[in-house]
Order: sequence, then structure tokens, then C-alpha cells
Amino acid sequence: MSSASEHDLVVVGAGPGGYVAAIRAAQLGLNVGCVEEAGALGGTCLRIGCIPSKALLESSQRFVEAKEQLAIHGIRAGEVTLNLAALLRRKEQVVTTLTRGVESLFKKNKVTRYLGHARIAGSGNLTVENGGQSTALAAKQILIATGSKPAGLQGVEPRGDLIGTSAEALSYRETPKHLVVIGAGYIGVELGSVWRRLGAKVTVLEFLDRILAGMDEELAAEARKLLGKQGLEFRLGARVTAARVEEGQCVVEAEGAEPIRCDRVLVAVGRLPNTESLGLENVGIETDRRGFIPVDERFATSAQGVYAVGDVIGGPMLAHKAEEEGMACVEGIVTGFCHVNYDAIPGVVYTHPEIASVGKTEQELKKTGAAFVKGPFPFRGNGRARALGQADGFVKVLADATTDRILGVHIIGPHAGELINEAAAAIAFGASSEDLARVCHAHPTLGEALREGALAAGNRAIHA
Ligand code: NAD
Repeated sequence: MSSASEHDLVVVGAGPGGYVAAIRAAQLGLNVGCVEEAGALGGTCLRIGCIPSKALLESSQRFVEAKEQLAIHGIRAGEVTLNLAALLRRKEQVVTTLTRGVESLFKKNKVTRYLGHARIAGSGNLTVENGGQSTALAAKQILIATGSKPAGLQGVEPRGDLIGTSAEALSYRETPKHLVVIGAGYIGVELGSVWRRLGAKVTVLEFLDRILAGMDEELAAEARKLLGKQGLEFRLGARVTAARVEEGQCVVEAEGAEPIRCDRVLVAVGRLPNTESLGLENVGIETDRRGFIPVDERFATSAQGVYAVGDVIGGPMLAHKAEEEGMACVEGIVTGFCHVNYDAIPGVVYTHPEIASVGKTEQELKKTGAAFVKGPFPFRGNGRARALGQADGFVKVLADATTDRILGVHIIGPHAGELINEAAAAIAFGASSEDLARVCHAHPTLGEALREGALAAGNRAIHA
């Protein structure tokens, strides 16, 4: 019989990678413990990442719509004002509901939750430290899912919410007059959009000559154009070398440009894996040169019985990628079958319009020399998008020139983040563009634009 401190599996970290793995393992019959040092479960994603930022994106978009966009529907609203405190409260409520939801899922699935910082003490042993108290746990298997934290930048001196990260930018108590964002990645464009919509002047400084590095170039160029129209000012090729607070004002320096004075700086230059104080050295695990924990295709580390998933092992730092890995890892431990299809992991930027991708970009395909066909379709040819008044953007389906198998789908447009799931399913099932094109899509829906993209890959789009 196991005592309370003995488990088949102890998961370290209750973010999307960890909590999903813990629940799946419990479903599969394991006695599971999960150690989390934050008071609330759900990790960065639920507490200070995806969820609160989506709540802010939704509220700020409603504000812009009420202020500027209802008129095209013939609706005249009175004076539209912003109650930022109420907007932030709603965001907190969304977070609290969801983090408590994970607590009840743990209870339902009989996952034992430990509050504190976990350290691997040796093979099959951990300690949980919490406020000077230490609890020993024994585990047949250990799964590390400790996630990541915002990366700093040399020369940039963090200072509360004056020069801070996404965590601070989710809770500014008042709208900045001028927000400078360093980095035009996922976080930069999402949180830059939020504060722009709420009235800030927003300048985004990006080291590269494009935004959204890694995404399909055509998609990123369209995003830059559309976000630029909304007032986001992008300065590309601008490498930030310093930022500091001087007499209550922030000063940001970038190579080859005049210093910028502003009242808030958001540093969004990527994230680093959380591996410190985990006791990795006690079981001989060494991180790679970028700080990630190396794992094999079953997510096993070099230490017997120790696994790792999510941001801490590298690859796209996405909640759903971590979830996939968490589930696959514990299924591998229990059933022997462990698989993640990395070609079918979508990425979504929740701006307006949304930007979403799955599979290979055109640039990746060109680099490998693969012969492919391209099915573009603009949302202006889609009836539902017209009815919504959101006809900006396009769908692009990329398929193998010989086999017609779908290799990548890239969408910028209304609800792209929902549409991309159909494309991910198609890729996961090994569909051809003709397979997708032959599926009857309800009319009038935005999904028809994806179907038209698939038709266009075979040169037979109807509405373009
Ligand atoms: P990112 O890696 O997406 O973008 C960072 C950007 O900063 C890059 O474009 C880089 O060129 C730029 N940069 C680096 N150094 C610079 C300098 N000195 N001056 C100017 N620019 C510089 O990182 P992020 O936006 O911080 O996001 C971190 C992670 O969080 C990402 O991996 C992302 O996947 C994840 N995330 C995902 C979502 C989502 O799925 N919607 C939302 C937010 C964050």
C-alpha cells in the first residue's frame, strides 16, 4: 500500500504540460502527485499568460468596436468610456475560475496536490520545500514540467511595471501614454494591441526586419500591414541595447536611432526554461547549451525514471504543445505507446484579425527544395466574412505538388485561431488538399474560406 507521500508518478509543475499529464496519468490508473509552487494551479498559461491576455484582448477589442466600429452597422452608441479597473477585475475573475477549475479536476481525478518548490533529491526521491518546511516524496517516475520565464535583455534594467515583462503588462493600473515594446513576437503584438486599443501610443522595436519570426513571411507581412493600420508603430531592424528609468521616465536605446522616452517598457524577447534549483545534478541531468533538458522521443531524460515535457525541453513554447507532450509521455509510461505529431501543432496569435498557422511555412518548404502548390484565398471572397464586416486577410493552403498531401496552412483573418483546428485535423489525418476541398462546408461560414484555399491549391477556387 502506498502512503500519502509515495506515488507512482510525481509531476513537477501544474501548467498545461504538468496538470494535463497528471490528470491523464490518474485516468490511466496511476497514483499521482503534483507539486506546484504557485498558490493557484494552471501555470503561466492560466495565471499570467494565455488566459489573462485573451481576456484583455477580448475586452479591448469590444472597446474599440463600441467606440469606432458599430457605426458601420448603423448603430450609434453614446459616449463610450473605459473603466480599466473593471476590465482588469473581469480578467482576474476569468483566471480565478479557471485555476479553481484545475483544482477541482485534480480532486475529481484524485491527483494529490503539493504546495511548494520541488527538488529532485536522488533517484525516485523528491523534497517539497514550502516556507521553511520540507516534505519528502517517493516516486517511481518523475515528470518535470516546470515551464519557462521571460528572458531578460542585456542593458535593460527591470524596474517594476515601468520596465517589466508580460506579467506586469497584464495589469497596468492605468493606460500608458506611450508604451515601448521590445520584440515583435507573439507577446509583443498581442499585448501591444491590447494597450493600443485602450488608448496608448505603442512603439514596437524589433531586431529583425520582420515581425512574428518563424511564421510564414506572407502572413507576417499582412499582419504588419493590418496592425500598422490599427496604430501599432513597428520599427524593424531596431536592436535594443539599453533601457532604464531616468527621473521617473523610461529611456530606451536602440542601435542607430535616437533614444525613445516613454512611460512603460514591455520586454518581450522570448522565454527561458525553468531549470534552476530542481536538483537535476542529483540525478546527473545536464541541460543543453540553451538551458533546455534533453529528452528522447518518449520524453525520457538521461536519468532513469525522470521525464520532461513542455517549455523546459525546447521547441515551440505553446501550452497545447506541452499538453500533447504531457499526455503522450504518461501514455508512453503506462501503455508503451507515445507519439506527438509535431507537424500538426498549430500556432495562433490572438490579434484582430487572428493569425494562425499549422505545418510548414512556404520558406521552410523552399529551403528543403520540396515541390509544392499553393492555394490562396482572400476573405473578401467569403460571404460570412463580408457579413461580419471582417473581410481582411487570407487563407493559404500549401500541398505537395506530387501527392497533394497538405503540408501547411496559414490563415490571417476572422477567427483564424478556430479555423486552424480543421487544418490541423486534416494534416493529422494525412489529408490531401482535394480531401479537404471535397468536404461539404456549411454556408455561409468562415470555414468555406479554408475549403476555397484547398480548392485553389487545385486551381479550382469558385469565389476567387
Ligand atoms: P518571441 O520569441 O515570440 O519574440 C521575441 C522577439 O524579440 C523576436 O522577434 C526577436 O527578434 C526580438 N528581439 C530579441 N532581442 C531583441 C532586441 N535586443 N531588440 C529588439 N528585438 C529583440 O518571444 P515572446 O513574444 O516574448 O514570446 C515568448 C514565448 O511565449 C514564445 O515562444 C511564444 O510561443 C509564447 N507565447 C505564445 C502565445 C500564443 O500562443 N498566442 C502568446 C504569447 C506568448
